[in-house]
Amino acid sequence: MQKNNPDAIVIGAGIVGACSALSLTNAGLKVMIIDRGSVASGTTGAGEGNILVSDKDPGPELTLALKSRDLWFELQEDVGDSFELEAKGGVVVARHDSSALMKLAEHQRAAGVTAERVNSAELHKLEPYLHPDLSEGVFYPQDAQCQPMLAAARIIQTVLARGGQLVSQARVTGFEISENSIKGVVTSRGTFHAPLVVNASGTWAGEIAALAGSQLPIAPRKGFILVTEPAPQYIFHKVYDSDYVANVASSDADLQTSTVVEGTRSGTILIGASRERIGFDGSMNYEIVRKLAAQATSLFPVLRDVQLLRVYRGFRPYAPDHLPVIGEDSLISGLWHSAGHEGAGIGLAPGSAALITDAILGRVSFMDAQAFSPQRFAGAL
Ligand SMILES: Cc1cc2nc3c(=O)[nH]c(=O)nc-3n(C[C@H](O)[C@H](O)[C@H](O)COP(=O)(O)OP(=O)(O)OC[C@H]3O[C@@H](n4cnc5c(N)ncnc54)[C@H](O)[C@@H]3O)c2cc1C
Repeated sequence: MQKNNPDAIVIGAGIVGACSALSLTNAGLKVMIIDRGSVASGTTGAGEGNILVSDKDPGPELTLALKSRDLWFELQEDVGDSFELEAKGGVVVARHDSSALMKLAEHQRAAGVTAERVNSAELHKLEPYLHPDLSEGVFYPQDAQCQPMLAAARIIQTVLARGGQLVSQARVTGFEISENSIKGVVTSRGTFHAPLVVNASGTWAGEIAALAGSQLPIAPRKGFILVTEPAPQYIFHKVYDSDYVANVASSDADLQTSTVVEGTRSGTILIGASRERIGFDGSMNYEIVRKLAAQATSLFPVLRDVQLLRVYRGFRPYAPDHLPVIGEDSLISGLWHSAGHEGAGIGLAPGSAALITDAILGRVSFMDAQAFSPQRFAGAL
């Protein structure tokens, strides 16, 4: 290896790439991050910053979420700066029959989640502006929130301060591969050599894998978010209705909407969330906007008097089994993937970074990552 070559190249300067790069740097590797745009120019800059354990069924994703949630707070200490990380807690409201929500909460409790059933009085104490007819829910104190763009930027600044490099505006167009082993990454700004590459290109991870002659079935799952004008504090936690959990888990390509509402430090209120698989169609859809707004006001009637400022949309990186892909490529050695985190990439990024670093270095990790292995899709396309 030439003297100035990095030990590892991370493709993607989103939250997953940022966390992977810092984790590898902290393990002693010299890391180069490459992105076709700038920091957080992909889905990380087009979503929300919820760090949730509440919306996950017991299983490997919940184990990863619980660890990641704690790692977020360690990360803030390591980076030594704030990215609006806040353990604000989540409130899930049962609009109709609460039995499915209560059953999920019971299973989650058995898996180590703090999930407190709340009656009407407690619910309205937590969220005084909630519709008076809503009378039952579950409070999840572990749910947290951050500002994902700021977090990616701060984390990458730390990587750079510790000797890493960022090559932005460099589109990856191919790989140098010899005897099925990665030797380098070919980009629009030249070729960079390293024996290790982490594909953290989110929704585009399948395209990157294909450039190496491999495959990953990652597809876009589009979502809209509405942003209101700054308002008085009407919302105190992340609040969503129990339909959200079913929508997250659904593999249906058609449009699904459920109500997710949360305040931000600047006073704006974020309203989501829609999900649909219609490829990379970035067009506006006023029907969805109207639906999300109506659902939000049915949860919080006070929002009827708050103006919408803007709407944005992004593409979640969707894998067919809703699990991220974390591990070495099934065909090309030295090519590692950490992608496909769908609607939970912000929450899951620090734990995913720990898993990929441990796997690369051959260390025992905090959990068995077999469920996330790229091998599960070998030959599937
Ligand atoms: C509406 C919406 C709401 C969401 N809300 C939440 C939430 O509350 N909590 C949560 O945890 N998650 C949420 N998500 C999901 C979350 O945003 C994603 O899972 C996460 O941002 C994925 O991060 P990433 O780093 O893998 O991908 P990205 O942020 O997309 O980063 C990938 C990077 O790869 C780069 N890239 C792609 N192709 C190439 C190439 N050929 N060459 C060089 N670079 C390339 C891109 O430019 C991009 O910067 C939401 C998503 C949406 C759309």
